[in-house]
Amino acid sequence: MSFSSLGLSSPLVSAIEAKGYKTPTPIQEQGIPAVLSGKDVMAAAQTGTGKTAAFTLPLIERFATHYKAPRANHIKALVLTPTRELAAQVAANVDEYKTNTDIRSHVVFGGVSINPQMKNLRRGVDILVATPGRLLDLFSQNAVKFADLEVLVLDEADRMLDMGFIHDIKRILKLLPQKRQNLLFSATFSDDIRHLAGSIVNDPIEVSVTPKNTTASNVEHSVVFLEKANKSKLLSHLIESNNWQQALVFSRTKHGANRLAKQLTSKGITSAAIHGNKSQGARTKALKEFKSGELRILVATDIAARGIDIDQLPNVVNYDLPNVAEDYVHRIGRTGRAGASGQAVSFVTIEDVKQLADIQNLIQQVIPVIDVPGLSSKQSLPAMSLKPVKAKRPKKPRPENARQGAPKSGARKQENQGSGNPKSGNRSNNRRPARNKP
Ligand code: AMP
Repeated sequence: MSFSSLGLSSPLVSAIEAKGYKTPTPIQEQGIPAVLSGKDVMAAAQTGTGKTAAFTLPLIERFATHYKAPRANHIKALVLTPTRELAAQVAANVDEYKTNTDIRSHVVFGGVSINPQMKNLRRGVDILVATPGRLLDLFSQNAVKFADLEVLVLDEADRMLDMGFIHDIKRILKLLPQKRQNLLFSATFSDDIRHLAGSIVNDPIEVSVTPKNTTASNVEHSVVFLEKANKSKLLSHLIESNNWQQALVFSRTKHGANRLAKQLTSKGITSAAIHGNKSQGARTKALKEFKSGELRILVATDIAARGIDIDQLPNVVNYDLPNVAEDYVHRIGRTGRAGASGQAVSFVTIEDVKQLADIQNLIQQVIPVIDVPGLSSKQSLPAMSLKPVKAKRPKKPRPENARQGAPKSGARKQENQGSGNPKSGNRSNNRRPARNKP
């Protein structure tokens, strides 16, 4: 199967060749023709499957053919993402794919000055990638107009709901023209996502490349059962004895991430931490250095790591298990991407046994336990068997008013969503109380 046989024309095919992609991934094979058909699409695909190209390529194709420049401040396609990192990555992909076309694209997110974004929107933009809070700020300042909008994309819709963006999404939906194409991408299709989809997509083509809550099959998972006090030693041991060139390490807390990055650096292992207390500049710098190989280890909290696009990351370490079992699937999605193989090691203490059971039940897999002499616990991990997954009963939708100001119990706010604009910072702080501050 070639990219041109999916309906993409030569300017795009050349850009794809320049990226070095040889064949479309399964989500691209199914997704590109579906999006080009102009119908609504619901796609279940995790990060790492090539999902970004599955919607950005056909969007560019749509607008580049018989190109008509956008009107001032108007946009033709809106891609909403839950985090700035993901927004920046989607926009970077669009920049690469659009090289041989006249398409104008731009990205807007909070945490940086709003003025350059307003200036960039003045000429009009074909494809705008945005996080919800900043988009609403720009709309309230008349910097962005939706009258010419033809396509809406919700990327990582499940994350948007988890992070409490439902009200922002609903506000945005009310501002868009009724007649438009809707594309909804999500790692999983939970009942909540299907409920949201009901109010967005119309007779969609459904595309799925990963069964619900499964992890990539080319990832080797393992667990080390140990005392908390040995975690740091075990991490350095794994890095050095396996001569890991790069690993992404997940920490539950921001302080833990800082501490760990410091400890590793003091042992001569180049490391940095990324989390919501770091400035946008520091996060971008750390990511860039990690991508270029200057940094060997990146220690991240879940929200900061979400959407990080690093090719062929071979190792992921769960230094702390995630609080929410679904996050295990997202974390592991960082490795074994686009066909590469990967390893995921989780550190489990006696306090984490219940969390491990939840994860195993979710992925319906017992993760093999490995022994690291001198560092694993002398006790054995309690035996665990898998519980079959129960089908959830669909939840009754609650009236809109009842939900105002009260995100669902698992809701977490986007770290530092505040935009540098005091108004928007307050708004997000007031409205999206965080339960699990990573
Ligand atoms: P995504 O799921 O969109 O985050 O993409 C994951 C990674 O796969 C990115 O680094 C892409 O550059 C890469 N990728 C996307 N499509 C292809 C392809 N057809 N062949 C090889 N790599 C790809």
